[in-house]
Amino acid sequence: MKIFVTNAELQLLENDLRDAPDRLESATDPAQHRVRLMQLQELAWHLRQRDTLRALALVATARESIAAAALSTRERELVSTRLQLIEGEAQWLFAQFVEAEDTLRTALTRFEAIDDAIGCADAHWALATLMVDLGRPEERDAELARSGEQARMAGDSLRADLADAAMARWAVFASLHQARERWGNRFGPDVSQLHPGLLTWVYDFWALLAFQTGDFAKSLTYRLPSYDLANDTGQLQRAIIGACNIGGAFGNLNDHQTALEWMERGLSAARSTGWPACIGNSLMQTAEILRHLGRFENAQDMLEQALERLGGQLGSRTYATTLQYLGDLQLDRHDNEVALTTFINLEQAAISLNQVDMHMVALRGRAAALLRLGRRAEAQEVAELSLALAQRQGDAYNQIEALRVLAQIYAERPTQNIEGDSTARRAPAPSAAQTRLAVPTNGKRREPSALSYLEQALAAAATIEGYTVSGAMLDQIAHEYAQIGDWQRAYGMALQAISSREKTTSMEAVNRAIAMQISHQTERARAEGEHHRELAASEARRAQTLQQTSDTLERLSVIGQEITAHLDAEAIFHTLERQVNGLLDATHFSIFLVDQEGIGLDCAFGVEQGKALPPLRVLLTSPTSQIARCARERGEILNELDKPLAHNPNLIPGTLPSLSALFAPLAIGDRLLGVMSIQSPLARVYAERERLVFRTLCAYGAIGLDNAATYRQLEAALQTLRDTQLQLIDKNSLLEGAYRELEHASLTDPLTGLHNRRYLLQHAENEVALTLRRHRRLLKPGLNRSNTDTDLVFLMIDIDHFKAVNDQFGHAAGDLVLVQMRERLQKVARATDYIIRWGGEEFLVVARATNRLDAALLAERLRLVVAQQPFDIGLPQPLSRTCSVGFACFPFLPTHPSELSWSQVVELADQALYMAKRGGRDGWVGLYGTAASNPENLFQRITQHADLLALEGEIQVVRSKDVPEAASMALPLRQ
Ligand code: GH3
Ligand code: MG
Ligand code: MG
Repeated sequence: MKIFVTNAELQLLENDLRDAPDRLESATDPAQHRVRLMQLQELAWHLRQRDTLRALALVATARESIAAAALSTRERELVSTRLQLIEGEAQWLFAQFVEAEDTLRTALTRFEAIDDAIGCADAHWALATLMVDLGRPEERDAELARSGEQARMAGDSLRADLADAAMARWAVFASLHQARERWGNRFGPDVSQLHPGLLTWVYDFWALLAFQTGDFAKSLTYRLPSYDLANDTGQLQRAIIGACNIGGAFGNLNDHQTALEWMERGLSAARSTGWPACIGNSLMQTAEILRHLGRFENAQDMLEQALERLGGQLGSRTYATTLQYLGDLQLDRHDNEVALTTFINLEQAAISLNQVDMHMVALRGRAAALLRLGRRAEAQEVAELSLALAQRQGDAYNQIEALRVLAQIYAERPTQNIEGDSTARRAPAPSAAQTRLAVPTNGKRREPSALSYLEQALAAAATIEGYTVSGAMLDQIAHEYAQIGDWQRAYGMALQAISSREKTTSMEAVNRAIAMQISHQTERARAEGEHHRELAASEARRAQTLQQTSDTLERLSVIGQEITAHLDAEAIFHTLERQVNGLLDATHFSIFLVDQEGIGLDCAFGVEQGKALPPLRVLLTSPTSQIARCARERGEILNELDKPLAHNPNLIPGTLPSLSALFAPLAIGDRLLGVMSIQSPLARVYAERERLVFRTLCAYGAIGLDNAATYRQLEAALQTLRDTQLQLIDKNSLLEGAYRELEHASLTDPLTGLHNRRYLLQHAENEVALTLRRHRRLLKPGLNRSNTDTDLVFLMIDIDHFKAVNDQFGHAAGDLVLVQMRERLQKVARATDYIIRWGGEEFLVVARATNRLDAALLAERLRLVVAQQPFDIGLPQPLSRTCSVGFACFPFLPTHPSELSWSQVVELADQALYMAKRGGRDGWVGLYGTAASNPENLFQRITQHADLLALEGEIQVVRSKDVPEAASMALPLRQ
């Protein structure tokens, strides 16, 4: 995919696509779809700035045809990401910056994922342009560098050069010298072979180099062709900004007439794109020229609009430039305080954007504002800084500006006013410091004075080709000559000032400015007017509708409300009948409703002289029935006779012959519900008014009946819903059951059916809280804590030499032993105790609400229940095994119940188990805290030096080996 094509090349693409659709209309061939998709994609890409809305439309079309096209997975991703890139660029142009960044970064990631270096280069390029508007210069440069890198990887020298040219362009703002040094010789001098899209940027770069040294004429020689090239290669955003920059260069040369012509070009191009940032930029540049022409009000107006449009890019250079112009305008309007703030803001923007030219402008503006506010010393310091910066950059234009401010500072120095001696009114000799700071020109050190600064400014102006010194500056010089009594020169300067004014603010320029302002206002007024007209028209339409509706409603609301209040057909029939009787002359009233199949009409309600009619049915096709005819024709029928017919086939037996009969359809829109009829034995009773009333009743009747039907359907739907809900509840309880089973499974050891560790983790906290509560109660003075069943005893049981079982009899035999362990443990533990399979052949019994003095007894029973009875492992010879037990109680220290956590107590039980194993197995060991225990670091100390602590009496170690077996049932255990 080329990055840019010329307008001529674009035309070829357009032709290709224009010829394609006819061929494709009936084509189902995926290969043809592929060709068309590629054309769509390419055209959309190259229209992205030329006609963004059309590009987006093409993107949408392309998206639709992706599915039908013959593409590999990679190709599909390539096309779809390229389309996304176009959308991202459009979002950027329409100032949807957040969305744009998101879209572009996603596109980049997608290109990276499929290793498409060209796509990556383009995504980085687009991100760089976005970063410009967002005022993030470091990221801008980083994106450009990556774009170049990717392009080089893909061997695309055009894209690589383009990234360099853009980097060069932006580098100028940071440092003219460095930019020139690094990039000055990168392109050219022979540029005839460069691609026009690239040349756009190279020329722009060269134009900036010239512009920043104040060489506006030279800058224009590059800017003008750059503008044309940008237009030709579809870089519309650059073209619009280029047009305004050309205007700006003419403005700096004080050729306001030409400046305005270019501004106009930029502004109208920007308007036709609708891109807010471009419009803002053009408005802001135009405002600056208007300011030079003294049209402050207009300039202010335009700047405010520009700021509004640039709202989303507060950090950008464009926004900063707007601040500059606003500051200068505020100075012109003598809003000095405000101007000072504006320039301080500008200075901050310049620093954060690293843009020297803007920085010197900010300083110069600040100096001017400070001077106006009477803060001369500060003003001088700041103006000199600005001048120094401009000199360092070799920027003649900004030197002139700074010198003029300095001249003002010196001109307004307080003077000793000696009558008759005009020379005495000169400024006093500057201080040593001022002299040191004074700016030397042409190697000569000169006395700083207003005049010397102005003369330097004149000298700088002479270096700028095509520069017209402004009338104001010449006036300033004339004034200074007059001050020193050099009337001759003063007069000469005054004359020059007049001719300069004629040149710079010629009538044509002023006229053009006025014309532009008017067209701008008209444009705005037109847009606003259209909006207001639209509003007014829709308001009028609304009012009219309201009026009509309210008239109708007023007449019929009572009847309508009553009829439509019912949701049941029977009630509606009765209400209708009552209304008919109240309003009309009718001895017969009937309603026929179309049946479900739509082939006949059944009498749903009928009354003749107060008596209900018998059931009746007519076919829709009946040639004689007026009801059927009315239904078929969907129109009102009025039958009038002067005398009864001799033979009436429609006469319902037992009813009166009628002379007046009225039939009207009951319909909602196109939908026919039935027919309503009234009849009277009197002749000509249904005139216009009666028919109107009847029609209205029919309309309401239809609405009411339809409501009733809908209500019935709703009721049925609700019933279904209720049934469904009931089913859902059933399903839910099933699900709940399943969930409970699942939870049970997750807390159970599958081999033994005992609880697992997770189960203990889930319950331990509660158990501990309960235990601690009990202990706290017991800690109260006066209560004897012995012999209370308030402890949690953790007993860790491990089968001795279990590995040998596996080794000798096989794993299945081992499993059988483990399964049988369950029953044995259950025999010893209470039903409320926890028995946990801790892991492998280790079990943990948590005896709840137990007296710690009974722990040894429990341990002994556990030992015995394993040792005394052999295990059945399916062999003739049963298998004898022993086990070892370690235990500890929670709380470990009853005097400090919270000192050790339950899990630490489990670890102590494990340590005790280990001691039991070391002591020869088939036994138990228990660890107790004692009255002598020092709670500090107790746990760590036990785990490290249990024996030592036992010796010192800080813990008590109880061993089965120390207790005669027979006596183990009643152990005298405690201190
Ligand atoms: P000690 O007396 O020191 O406890 O010796 P031991 O052999 O019982 O201990 P060791 O920790 O060396 O071996 C435990 C064995 O338990 C090792 C492992 O194969 C076995 N084991 C762990 N889980 C299971 C299981 O679910 N089924 C079977 N059959 N064996 C298991
Ligand atoms: Mg073990
Ligand atoms: Mg073991």
